Amino acid sequence: MKRSLLAFTSIVLALLGTSQITQAADPAHPDQPIVAPADALSRLKEGNGRFTAGNLQHPHDSIDERKYMAANSYENAGTISLGMTSEQAAKRRAELAKSQHPFAIILSCSDSRVPPEIVFDEGLGDLFIVRVAGNVLNNEGLGSIEYGVEVLGARLIVVLGHQSCGAVDAAMKTIAAKGKAPGHIQSLITAIEPVVDSTPKGDLDMTIKANVKHVVDALRASTPILKTRVDSGDVQVIGGYYTLDTGAVNFLDGK
Ligand SMILES: [Zn+2]
Repeated sequence: MKRSLLAFTSIVLALLGTSQITQAADPAHPDQPIVAPADALSRLKEGNGRFTAGNLQHPHDSIDERKYMAANSYENAGTISLGMTSEQAAKRRAELAKSQHPFAIILSCSDSRVPPEIVFDEGLGDLFIVRVAGNVLNNEGLGSIEYGVEVLGARLIVVLGHQSCGAVDAAMKTIAAKGKAPGHIQSLITAIEPVVDSTPKGDLDMTIKANVKHVVDALRASTPILKTRVDSGDVQVIGGYYTLDTGAVNFLDGK
């Protein structure tokens, strides 16, 4: 385990340079506070609460960006908190240029209606995100998630599915028709097929939630990195479901 971690870290070092690794090697470093899973989850819930209430803070964006959004978006300009000055935003960007310490990892669908930074009202440097249609898990996604845990210090992983997921819908329809999707889209169908096969036929919403659970279970059982950390309670993997109608994220279990 230690040997493989060392090899992994060496590879990452070679790829990225040393500054992040130096910080990540010291969890007590004040520049890299480890955010416990429960605290990270609370923060996501609070951010989604602001989003659904139309009271976005856009943390870590510049005041200029916020003024632009206030003037040009559907949001009510009067409710936007313009709390960060251009100087503060520049300082934040300078900090992030040196290193990043996102407090949560999100594996979400590519769907344009479910961007995690927006639905959780987070900003630059806050979330480490893997997006792929149907929030399916592939090796590259798993490697990215492991990197987020091992190197960047995130301790909460959220698998985020959503209402009316087109990828899950396409999988159900393609499998029901015993057909094949064009090109590489078929790879998404193949990834979701075990879930479709084990879920009562015809219920899209139930299949979407089962697909989230399927990926959550895969992450929790993933060796050699995640399983050990999940079993010890160091890392938490949790499923979430985003409702397009309300903007609310419901977390599917508390484990
Ligand atoms: Zn989707």
